[in-house]
Amino acid sequence: MTIPETSAPAPGATIRPGQLFIGGTWRDASDGARRDILNPATGQVITTVASATTADVDDAVAAARAAFDSGVWSRLSGRERARVMQRALQLMRDRAEDLAQAEHQNVGKPITFARVVDVVNATELYEYYTALGHSMDGSVRETPADIHAYIRKEPLGVVAAITPFNFPLILSATKIAPALIAGNSIVHKPASDTPLSALIIAEILQEAGVPDGVFNVVTGSGTTLGDHLVGHPDVNKVAFTGSTEIGSRAAELAGRALKPFTAELGGNAANILFADADLNAAIFTTISAFVFNSGQFCMAGPRLLVERPIYETVLGILAEAVPHVPFGDPTQPETVIGPLASPTQLDKVAGMVERAKAAGGRIITGGEKVDLDGGFYYRPTVIADLGSDAEAVADEIFGPVLTVQPFDTEEEAIALANGTSYGLASGIQTGDLAKAHRVAARLEAGITWVNGWALMDPAVPFGGVKASGWGREGGPEALESYQRAHSIVFNLAQPEAAAQ
Ligand code: NAP
Repeated sequence: MTIPETSAPAPGATIRPGQLFIGGTWRDASDGARRDILNPATGQVITTVASATTADVDDAVAAARAAFDSGVWSRLSGRERARVMQRALQLMRDRAEDLAQAEHQNVGKPITFARVVDVVNATELYEYYTALGHSMDGSVRETPADIHAYIRKEPLGVVAAITPFNFPLILSATKIAPALIAGNSIVHKPASDTPLSALIIAEILQEAGVPDGVFNVVTGSGTTLGDHLVGHPDVNKVAFTGSTEIGSRAAELAGRALKPFTAELGGNAANILFADADLNAAIFTTISAFVFNSGQFCMAGPRLLVERPIYETVLGILAEAVPHVPFGDPTQPETVIGPLASPTQLDKVAGMVERAKAAGGRIITGGEKVDLDGGFYYRPTVIADLGSDAEAVADEIFGPVLTVQPFDTEEEAIALANGTSYGLASGIQTGDLAKAHRVAARLEAGITWVNGWALMDPAVPFGGVKASGWGREGGPEALESYQRAHSIVFNLAQPEAAAQ
């Protein structure tokens, strides 16, 4: 990841109240309930959105089912669907600033990052899967001469796409783009705190020509809607990104109904810094890895493991450097670290740091909430001297907090890195590439970055091992996860031969 160049300040666009998008129609929740949506930088209500009921979920699933069964999208060729998605991609680019404003005002993301990370990465995902749509095919298998077998790649049906609060636009794109190009219908439930960009995507897909009912959005509480949507008999696949706790509950429910399930869950990545690394570059990477998106990043690097000879040096550099990272008002183009997304998240992070202090953690920098404009700010924090069993090291913090531990040997670094229930991402900073290959092969993670962090591309799959989930998003792997193989086998035997 690189910190982007600055761009124009946020103009403060007005956000319209949100409705449910079901069967191509915008409507209120069946009981009229609405939810306030906050700007995390000010704590102020910026708009309200409809809060769906389980009856609304039933309507959305019914609309998706009807659209799927009609064949109006599911039976188009990949190229025909790709033409529609190409128009959607252009509309996303035309409305890039609307999308950036939604992520900025709703999630508290610094405007510069919303523009050049969230919007750019999301549109690239749509671009990648649209391109795959042009070359979708099945296969013919070599069989004995009296059999002809070909394999069709067919869509699964109705997909429930459930996303977390931290990257609404990108994490919906990782699901919507491959699921749609494969021919599925979708019911999308965004996080209840950050649903705004999903509503813009619905407008765009409709304007692009995605048929009514193929894409639906139900905004509202996961506690109320989640089990109902996941367990709904007309939902054929669940694509879930969120916490390990909720993900395992949803996986259990889906598993009972034998539904395919993609689980992109929590993370607690280790960043291993060897003494032979380019220290300037490694410090830049280390700071980027834990402050990006205010640390609300499943693939953040909140655990820094440092080879002992440079341990105190690295702590000294972090103490000096971290307070200089531009922090505060996310409307300012130079801001790198904005607020946390919600008061709940702020309190969770503050509580974990207080308990880390009580457990003997040495605060190198930060360690406090910041009272600024009524927003949900936590100062970027570095903590040393905690053991691996301390909560702040063992659990996912999901805030701008870095713990630092020393190690003496390669073996110890690998053991510390793998000594967590999670296994999403990991990183190695070293000047010795043979060592990088050796260590990378032994890290229990879905992705490992060498001399960098969060280097992402739509073509590169990502996902977890252990408590970080299973299945992969990105790459052709994700497209395949929205398809099933249907083998069609012809009997070519001559009647007399068959009779023998
Ligand atoms: P969360 O609390 O698990 O919520 C995720 C989504 O699930 C939300 O839309 C939530 O709705 C919904 N939900 C709640 N209860 C549900 C239920 N019973 N059944 C189905 N869905 C239900 O996660 P979060 O706090 O939004 O996000 C942070 C977590 O996501 C972190 O653990 C982070 O590591 C993880 N994450 C993982 C990845 C990855 O790719 N592996 C990426 C980003 C984030 P409400 O919003 O209404 O509660």
